[in-house]
Amino acid sequence: MQPSQDPAACNGFSRRTFFRYAAGASALASMPILTEAHLAQAQRPHFADPNKGIHIDANENPMGPCDAARQAVIDIVPRGGRYLMNMEDDLIGTFAKQEGLDPQSVLAYPGSSEPLHYTVLTFTSPSRPLVVADPGYEAPIWAASVAGAPVIRVPLADPKGAAAHDIKAMLAASPNAGVMYICNPNNPTGTCTPRADIESAVANAPKDTILLIDEAYIHLCDAPRSLDFVKEGRNVIVLRTFSKLYGMAGLRMGFAIGRPDLLKQISTHGGFNPLPITAMAAAKTSLLQADLVETRKKTIAEIRDETFAWLKSNDYKFTPSESNCFMLETNRPGKQVMAGMAAHDIYIGRIWPAWPTQVRITVGTHDEMLAFRKAFQDVMSSTTAGLQPAPLPRRVADRKFFS
Ligand code: PLP
Repeated sequence: MQPSQDPAACNGFSRRTFFRYAAGASALASMPILTEAHLAQAQRPHFADPNKGIHIDANENPMGPCDAARQAVIDIVPRGGRYLMNMEDDLIGTFAKQEGLDPQSVLAYPGSSEPLHYTVLTFTSPSRPLVVADPGYEAPIWAASVAGAPVIRVPLADPKGAAAHDIKAMLAASPNAGVMYICNPNNPTGTCTPRADIESAVANAPKDTILLIDEAYIHLCDAPRSLDFVKEGRNVIVLRTFSKLYGMAGLRMGFAIGRPDLLKQISTHGGFNPLPITAMAAAKTSLLQADLVETRKKTIAEIRDETFAWLKSNDYKFTPSESNCFMLETNRPGKQVMAGMAAHDIYIGRIWPAWPTQVRITVGTHDEMLAFRKAFQDVMSSTTAGLQPAPLPRRVADRKFFS
């Protein structure tokens, strides 16, 4: 391997490192915070330089921070020698005011991964399972393994149609769940769960079960938000992040929103480090851009729907996403398709064991999605170029039907 191809050197995180961390986490009951970035990296078919090729495998936002947020970062840099702790209260206050929340029910973190993990660590245990939808975002499962908690995976309802969480089945799955995780819209399918079902989860969950409602992608859709459950004092923690619509995955900022007594409990696991002032400046400025959410939601939806129209016209099946990612049926081992696409320098997202012939696609830029279409068509009609099909039985191959 050339030095420049060493994933650890370039990405700072190789697949080997991932699995070492993972093994260490369960063995030592201490854990790294695993995010989408790590999970995407762990399934990449081979080393991919993040500065080259097309990366539509980690649900990132290729637009990055908005112009005003970039300027806010530049403007705050000269003050980088200071902690500026007041900026955190200012950021939380801005968000709380916009959403009609008590600032005491909001905590800020560098991304939403930390509070996601802390919530699972706090409220699950060997006798208090984690209930999740399948396929769903895997990070809470890693946290549950550290807590020694059983994980109950409930298949999505109507997987060939709406692919929403099956809330009835999730409620029935355990009489004493520690955490029921609802990702709305769901990662990886991009599908939303109807408000009535989420209301039913809040109303009917066991008394001590915490509903962890992950709204990482909520800005990308019109689905009703869940912050009102926090205002009503329910056993609900909502997660928000600046990593998706706001394009700040690398800058890192997110919120946990919940009753102050619940936030106090999750805080026993961490979250006291001063936050980077660059991220706080960019986040607050992003919140103050009146049209940002609507404009970006529209841009991403247009590119997604154009891609869907093309997929439909070519008879490909996909989940009806309202977000920036969707699952795409390939009717063959998804890993082969990932490898075939990587041969075109296009990195698509990973496979979930429950749906091994589907791959997750992140909506990239217009041009990236045009390149995706071309390469995908090529890979799907090819028996070479990285697909590594199983060898034909000699008896068939010898007849040269498949020259
Ligand atoms: N929740 C979901 C569903 C995600 O997909 C991600 C990242 O992709 C996160 C949480 C965590 O993101 P971050 O820590 O960057 O806020």
